[in-house]
Amino acid sequence: MTANILDGHAHAQIVIDKVASELDRLPRAPGLTVVLVGDDPASQIYVQSKVRMAERLGLRGEVERLPDDASEADLLARIAALNARDDIDGILIQLPLPAHIDALRVMAAVDPAKDVDGLHALNAGRLFHGDDALVPCTPLGCLRLIKSIRPDLTGAHAVVIGSSNIVGKPMAALLLQEQATVTQTHIHTRGISNICRQADILVSAVGKAGLVRGDWIKPQAIVIDVGTTRVEKPDGGYAVCGDVSFDEAVQVAGAITPVPRGVGPMTIACLMENTVKAAKARSARLQ
Ligand code: NAD
Repeated sequence: MTANILDGHAHAQIVIDKVASELDRLPRAPGLTVVLVGDDPASQIYVQSKVRMAERLGLRGEVERLPDDASEADLLARIAALNARDDIDGILIQLPLPAHIDALRVMAAVDPAKDVDGLHALNAGRLFHGDDALVPCTPLGCLRLIKSIRPDLTGAHAVVIGSSNIVGKPMAALLLQEQATVTQTHIHTRGISNICRQADILVSAVGKAGLVRGDWIKPQAIVIDVGTTRVEKPDGGYAVCGDVSFDEAVQVAGAITPVPRGVGPMTIACLMENTVKAAKARSARLQ
């Protein structure tokens, strides 16, 4: 028996349709600015997809570009200007930032009400307290995919591989909020394959192609593969690979996301949802 393959585009469309239906109730089109520092090729593609989706939906999407050698002060000044603009509801700083810029200081500078990537400490803290927050888009999308298969996660054992602020930690917090028993693992975790084998829900957010083998997976588990690694092909092009060895995992899991066309489209859809959520909250406050 092979796993149910979770179609990220189909699930993302459900989110997008809901977002589109809410736009009419807003006094103006929400504005989203994505800030890109440098010219990392993968980041350029991600930024374009985000802005294109915003425009397709009728949001105002724009990219603010800074050169690779822009100083932290330049970036902070740009963020302060975006914080002050009334027509901008969402600000997303595309990661990774160049090494000379302190990402935590940059995240702390974004107005928490416009922090559509959910990386400001106030939003992260609210998420951990179970309070209403802007939640990072990727784990939010992953949770939607998991719940499409298993709506009630009470008592399920969820294992998250990876503990970054943008995926691993908020993923664990969201699963905990759903009453799952959560094990968070990372690069220093010992016996990781044995831990993963106990998971009813396994989320991998590492960035190491093929790390999770078929024999790491409990039969019928829900497997969510967040990882994206660009692997060069002999013809000079590249393929995007997930963390999970898909051909093996699909024989064991109950449901699995492919890479690409799994988590990626959900991340973008949830960014649109967060932008509209931020716009609604700001317009309610300004009334
Ligand atoms: P990160 O580098 O910040 O964190 C990686 C995590 O993996 C760390 O916690 C590290 O301890 C852990 N790790 C590294 N090697 C490990 C190993 N051998 N065993 C267990 N844990 C290990 O990365 P991130 O920003 O969290 O992103 C993770 C992956 O998800 C990347 O491939 C990234 O491109 C991808 N990503 C995809 C989307 C999407 O929308 N599809 C969004 C965000 C991130």
